[in-house]
Amino acid sequence: MKFATRTQKTGHSGLEDLFAASGPNVISFAGGYPDRDLFPTKQLNQAFSQNFTSGDRELLQYASTEGYEPLRAKIAARLQTTGMQVDADDIMMTQGAQQGIDLVARLMLDPGDGLVVEAPTYLGALAAFNAYQPTYYEVPMQADGMDINALQRILMSRKVKFIYTVPDFQNPTGVVMSLAKRQAIIRLANQYDVMILEDNPYRDLRYTGKALPTIKSLDTEGRVIYLGSFSKILSPSLRMGWLVAAPNLLKELLALKGGSDLESSNLVMHGINTYMENNDLDAHIREIQDCYREKKNAMVAAMKRYLPEEAHFTNPDGGFFIWLTMPAGFDMGAFMKEHLLPEANISYVPSTNLYATAALSNGARLNFTGPSLAQIDTGMKALGAALKVALQH
Ligand code: PMP
Repeated sequence: MKFATRTQKTGHSGLEDLFAASGPNVISFAGGYPDRDLFPTKQLNQAFSQNFTSGDRELLQYASTEGYEPLRAKIAARLQTTGMQVDADDIMMTQGAQQGIDLVARLMLDPGDGLVVEAPTYLGALAAFNAYQPTYYEVPMQADGMDINALQRILMSRKVKFIYTVPDFQNPTGVVMSLAKRQAIIRLANQYDVMILEDNPYRDLRYTGKALPTIKSLDTEGRVIYLGSFSKILSPSLRMGWLVAAPNLLKELLALKGGSDLESSNLVMHGINTYMENNDLDAHIREIQDCYREKKNAMVAAMKRYLPEEAHFTNPDGGFFIWLTMPAGFDMGAFMKEHLLPEANISYVPSTNLYATAALSNGARLNFTGPSLAQIDTGMKALGAALKVALQH
């Protein structure tokens, strides 16, 4: 059987490795899982049950591609508090932020078209983009976001359709893009006539410091498409995210979504809407922040205590991930497969999977939200010991 050429790069996204590295005895720092103890099971149960007991049969009916208006209005109100000028009509609901990535790629990319991504970047975005056969241009990540000079050099010399960025607590590095770079990226997008896809599912999960404006809120020309999600603040199994775009783009994206899945689950949208009416989502988010702040601090402290001095790592202000860098040439993937997993049952995501083209092998993404405090300590102790052996201390 001959598959379409678009699938040539999709078979080895690295996603399978990631889930395979999460067996029952493994302490996994590989996943991007929320802490399951934080899911508001009672409140979600109450909200979904309330809708069913109301007897409204429309709950189980087809509804609309853009999604349930009261929920979109609530999302718009939350986004307005971040400075974004948006109302319900500027929003469409998606099957997680992941569907938004896929739809934007489908809208923008013909095979060979230029696409700028951060290096490293989110694995799932590469998995979505690969199907559209783009020409990747990678911009290195720095401590304050993508290297803007490198971006400018690319835009000056190449034709680019859009720039994909995760500006808040980037997956995988945990880095936040500075305000100056947010302003610069808008300026460059305007100058070179390119779009920006701002993927921002971690924005609400800030543990220290003050939030910066979204890139979308700095957009004066309708060039930014913004993605948000309930996955990290309520539950990923709801599969509910949203997309904000200018009317001309939204119209096209709605047609593409219709062709893909007609609409998102009406039942789930009603459930989330009722949850938000009955509960204080911000209070729930504060509870998540408190838990993850503690886990992140514990992880950073354990890394400082146990890891060899050659190991460098980020101390993110929010999100799900810490980025670990070993000396150039060290292969975090081979080390994990040959030593860490078989000998200590510990996994993470090696950096090799996280670059569009020019993969570096000496980094790793470590998740701190999924494992327990005890697993964090045990895991980092074992990682430190194994790294010291590998470095022949
Ligand atoms: N974007 C980024 C940067 C992510 O980390 C994730 C989840 N890991 C997603 C999008 C997709 O999230 P979801 O589809 O669950 O909203």
